[in-house]
Amino acid sequence: MRTLPSRHNATCALPCATRRPYPRIVASPQTPVTSRTQVAIVGAGPAGLLLSHLLHLRGIESVVLEARSREYVEQRVRAGVLEQGTVDTLVSSGAGERLLREGLVHHGIELRFGGAGHRIAFEKLVPGRAITVYGQQEVVKDLIAARLAAGGDIRFEVSDVGLDGIDGERPAVSFWNKSGSAIIEADFIAGCDGFHGVCRDAIPPGVLRFFDKDYPFGWLGVLAAVEPSSEELIYASSDRGFALHSMRSPQVSRFYLQVAPDEDIAAWPDRRIWDELAARLETVPGWKLSTGPLIEKGVTAMRSFVTEPMQFGRLFLAGDAAHIVPPTGAKGLNLAAFDVTVLTEALAEWYASGDTALLDGYSRACLRRVWRVQHFSWWMTTLLHTFEHYDAYDRRLQESYLDYVCSSDAASTSLAENYVGLERAIR
Ligand SMILES: Cc1cc2nc3c(=O)[nH]c(=O)nc-3n(C[C@H](O)[C@H](O)[C@H](O)COP(=O)(O)OP(=O)(O)OC[C@H]3O[C@@H](n4cnc5c(N)ncnc54)[C@H](O)[C@@H]3O)c2cc1C
Repeated sequence: MRTLPSRHNATCALPCATRRPYPRIVASPQTPVTSRTQVAIVGAGPAGLLLSHLLHLRGIESVVLEARSREYVEQRVRAGVLEQGTVDTLVSSGAGERLLREGLVHHGIELRFGGAGHRIAFEKLVPGRAITVYGQQEVVKDLIAARLAAGGDIRFEVSDVGLDGIDGERPAVSFWNKSGSAIIEADFIAGCDGFHGVCRDAIPPGVLRFFDKDYPFGWLGVLAAVEPSSEELIYASSDRGFALHSMRSPQVSRFYLQVAPDEDIAAWPDRRIWDELAARLETVPGWKLSTGPLIEKGVTAMRSFVTEPMQFGRLFLAGDAAHIVPPTGAKGLNLAAFDVTVLTEALAEWYASGDTALLDGYSRACLRRVWRVQHFSWWMTTLLHTFEHYDAYDRRLQESYLDYVCSSDAASTSLAENYVGLERAIR
């Protein structure tokens, strides 16, 4: 692993041969306004905002650059299941007051297959640990409010973000916003700009290794203005495909259907969605699905992706910029929160003592958890979805494994401890 230059070392520790041209800051006729911060953060999703908030608590200043508007990021509906560790981080950081008030704490989930429901009881299998259902957009709202209340600097609606000097001690980020072009010089850059962001591509070719897997299906996700039909999440495996009954609040339900990865949402009028949800979920005698108006619907492809390492020079990648998982394990947001917790510790140590040990170990510390979560998300996905190439034998094997997971304490404890989130060892 490459060693970072120490805070007190004026020369770049990287051999010159590793310096390559990056997307350069583009010269403009107008002189850019240059300012300085300690950590420049690209992306105001959960990773970027939580990092900025945690750094502030450690006395480290940052600027967050976001391509979208504040309204857009505060309304963007995505994940909604928080692991115990994510909840603990938000609460201990002071950003969890509304989460504690409004979040729905769940002590179990149901696996539904073969005409019966099977509860995975967290209170028995992983005592003291649970999940909290609280929408990602609510986490984003809370973190933006916390940053702005503390005088934090979030620049929304920036464009043409470019990175420069990431292999040296004075990395910089250039961008445009409504006031014109600007450059922010920093000690470090955090690439929290999601899977389609620009930071990962700023790393010279040949440095990173990518691991990925595409799944032969996607998820049609809908938000419905209807009281959830179940108190806990239901993961349903049926011959027609997978369905998930989730929720966002006592008045709003969230549903997913396994569909083709390139499914045309126009082919799914509301009636068809409700009929298909009923066909996959109403498989237990007496259980009825409540229906109501659909507020939002969309299709998301399912993919697994990992970048190794998650760092180059003074650029650190975190969250979806470095890795994505299929949402079956409900892990994307939680993994993003873990990465930035590790990064905060590492940066705090560097600013306090100049010691680079934790920064040098950032990738290793994150990737250990990333790969555990990759496996769990892949495992949940293959356990519950139907695959086109499956024949009757494969399906029986899947049902047998589901039966084992639900009837063996050892197997269901393994599911439960991964689902609520393994203990967070960040060193
Ligand atoms: C469509 C979708 C649906 C999902 N649904 C679920 C789900 O149901 N359950 C689940 O567990 N997980 C889900 N996930 C995963 C989860 O939402 C992500 O893992 C989580 O958002 C990761 O947070 P992040 O901050 O790393 O990235 P993001 O939330 O993607 O945030 C990145 C931010 O960077 C900004 N950005 C991008 N490029 C630039 C740029 N060039 N300059 C400045 N800013 C930039 C983006 O606008 C965005 O605000 C979903 C993800 C997607 C994409």
